[in-house]
Amino acid sequence: MAAPISLRDFISGVEAVINGHNRLNDFESELKAHFGVKYCFLVSSGKAALTVILKALHEIHPDRDEILIPAFTCYSVPSAVVRAGLKVRLCDIGEGTFDFDYKKLASILSRSDQSPKKTDLTQEVNHACQSAKSKADSRLLAILPTHLLGIPSDVNRIRSMLNDPSVTIVEDAAQAMGESCQCGKLGTLGDVSFFSLGRGKMFCTVEGGIILTSRDDIAASLNHQIKSIPPCNSIALLRLILYGLALLLFLNPFLFWLPSSISVLKLGQTIFDPEFAVYRMSSFQAGLATRWLLRLRTLHEYRAQLVRIWKALYHKHTDGTHHASLIQNSALIRYPLIISDTMKRDSILYDSKHRGLGISKLYPDAISAIDSLKFTNGEDYHVARKLAASLITLPTHHYVCNKDVAKIKAIVWKRPSSH
Ligand SMILES: *Cc1c(COP(=O)(O)O)cnc(C)c1O
Repeated sequence: MAAPISLRDFISGVEAVINGHNRLNDFESELKAHFGVKYCFLVSSGKAALTVILKALHEIHPDRDEILIPAFTCYSVPSAVVRAGLKVRLCDIGEGTFDFDYKKLASILSRSDQSPKKTDLTQEVNHACQSAKSKADSRLLAILPTHLLGIPSDVNRIRSMLNDPSVTIVEDAAQAMGESCQCGKLGTLGDVSFFSLGRGKMFCTVEGGIILTSRDDIAASLNHQIKSIPPCNSIALLRLILYGLALLLFLNPFLFWLPSSISVLKLGQTIFDPEFAVYRMSSFQAGLATRWLLRLRTLHEYRAQLVRIWKALYHKHTDGTHHASLIQNSALIRYPLIISDTMKRDSILYDSKHRGLGISKLYPDAISAIDSLKFTNGEDYHVARKLAASLITLPTHHYVCNKDVAKIKAIVWKRPSSH
């Protein structure tokens, strides 16, 4: 019960390796049935899923090569964009929303859409020239609404803002498997979507990526892409089995400090690196996921309970220095808190690290701060940068016990305010 991978799951994983590929097919069918989608593809990780999706979309629209992502998101996202041979474009996030800044998004989309009236230059040329020119300017291939931490992005709003049917909505539901909003299950709202089964996500099979879509054209292209990527080789498989064993053995409440101190078990992706493996999911991973729906529901309950606890503490102790985001849904992979006082934030993070309490920043900085991406358009993505500098996240996973809650409460909310 304690570890993200139980002995029983591990045994199912090993059994699936011995029995061949049946488990992969079953997992696909179960996912299609549960999410009510026509197609499902299983790959090695969330970033592999995104890479494959973007390559498939580029195959459909070879003249488009820009991917619009939030300026505050997982570093794996730009890694996958670059891996797919495409260009990253950023949109800042809204103040306290963890979703796009919709004003800024509207202005970016109106520049990308074929709307010649927006540019002074085109007013002077004739209409035929206008549409030809603006079409050539429109490089936007996809936009990635992202349910960061499990907080729903407003996918329908984005859809209503898009006038250009060639721009695909890729729903980044990496952190939101099993969650839903008024519009339905997260992961079923975009034209195509993906989940991550990596460490630190809603549900973990060491690594893993799930692609869902109901669009025939996208599925046909995805099929083509999937055929061109290799199956999991024996070295990768051995690595997965060893990681699985490590998660089984080390991630239990007694050794809870281990994940933050052992770098091989590093939680979360905070490095930009397009050189990652892309292969099809192994039957071991599908085997680990044998009881996925049950586990997802159990984990959801634990997380919802901790979110309620953190929320109640936040409301009780709010003193103007904290500022919680709009959290309406019930389960999050981590609970976000804004600590604007840098010294206070550093000291909370320091204490947590030493006592193994699992409070952490989410990402080191905004995506615009990644030097190798060379953003030179002069925008500063102010809200994303500010969030990166002030955000801390509290754990919501099921190995946080009552004692941990008390300790976390003590270091986050019970500080004497020094002047
Ligand atoms: C984790 C994550 C990914 C990538 O998933 P991996 O399985 O770690 O490769 C993509 N997007 C977001 C928002 C994520 O949190």
